[in-house]
Amino acid sequence: MQNNYEKFIKQFQKKIDNYFEENSEYIYCHQGCSACCEIGEYPFSWVEMNYLMEGFSKLPENRKYIIKENFSKLKIEKENFKGERFEYRCPFLIDGLCSVYSYRGLTCRTHGLAYLKKDGTVNVPFCANNGLNYSSVFKDGIFSIEPIKENLNIDEILKNYNEEMGEIRPLINWIIN
Ligand code: SF4
Repeated sequence: MQNNYEKFIKQFQKKIDNYFEENSEYIYCHQGCSACCEIGEYPFSWVEMNYLMEGFSKLPENRKYIIKENFSKLKIEKENFKGERFEYRCPFLIDGLCSVYSYRGLTCRTHGLAYLKKDGTVNVPFCANNGLNYSSVFKDGIFSIEPIKENLNIDEILKNYNEEMGEIRPLINWIIN
């Protein structure tokens, strides 16, 4: 199953790389910008989470320690959270970089792209409001270029994977309840 998933990820990454290339004049993503990993839920399927944890298992002990500490802090924050949707800084983010980059999930790979959703509206990355991706073509809620015509929501992506991916949960819910 792991081999099939790795093959799937490779093909998916190729497609995503092409989308980034096609939209390159509107993209400001660069190493060191971690805005997409600073706040969110990060939906992960079971297979993706297993793959991510394989990456975790290969990290040096000091990095594992930092990630475990991040989870412990999030556990407390989550227990004290009273709202409906708990959003957080990804615990795998260390010094502004993804510590498990090669093993990151499908949603992580789509961070920063604008694409057409099922309901016909455009999913625009939030950094468009901060002068970054697509900011030159997104004004007053209007997206003025053709968006990527593929729904890159995780449920849709997974429809192209013909093996069992398991349940989808926010990343931290796989580790803490
Ligand atoms: S796994 Fe890596 S890329 Fe995905 S949200 Fe966490 S830090 Fe960001």
